[in-house]
Amino acid sequence: MTLTTHAVTGAVIAKLMAGNPLLGLFLAFCSHFILDAFPHWDYPLKSHNEDKKNPLDSTMSINGHFVKDFLNVSMDGMLGLILSFILVSQLEFNAYILGAALVAQLPDALQFVYWRVRREPLTSLQKFHIWIHTKNKMRNMKWVSISAQALFILLVTASFWANSYPLAQLFR
Ligand SMILES: [Zn+2]
Repeated sequence: MTLTTHAVTGAVIAKLMAGNPLLGLFLAFCSHFILDAFPHWDYPLKSHNEDKKNPLDSTMSINGHFVKDFLNVSMDGMLGLILSFILVSQLEFNAYILGAALVAQLPDALQFVYWRVRREPLTSLQKFHIWIHTKNKMRNMKWVSISAQALFILLVTASFWANSYPLAQLFR
C-alpha cells in the first residue's frame, strides 16, 4: 500500500478518536497492517533485495538505486501528510492528526531499520508484517490498485470535507 494511503487512513482514525488520542495513535499504527493485508500493487524498490525463500533475510542496499527509492518514498510519505492536512485536518495545523499520519506510515520505516539492524523487537514485528502483508501483488493491475487507493482516500475523508471543507462552501 502506498504511504499516502496509510497516512490518510491514520489521520482519519485519529480524527474519529479525538476523544482518546493515545488509542487513536495506537489504532493508526495498527491500521497499517490491516491495509497491507488487502491485495495491492506497490511501486518497486530497486535497492530492496527480496529473498523469496526467506523473506526475513531480505536486505536493502545503499547503492545508486537507493537515492531514487528514497526520493520516491519521501514524496509518497509527504503526499500522505499533505493530503491529511488538506482533507482531514482541513488546512488547520493539528499535531495529533499529523502524528497519527506519521505513526500509520511508521511500520514501513521500521522495516528499513530492521534490514539494517536485525534485532528484537524489530524481528518479531518484521515477521508479523511479512505474514499479514498480502501475497497478491496485483502485478499487471498497477492502475487498478492506484485508482482503488485514490477512491478509498476520497471515500474515507468525504464526510469531513463534504460538510466543512472550505472549498466545498463554494459549491453550495
Ligand atoms: Zn507495510
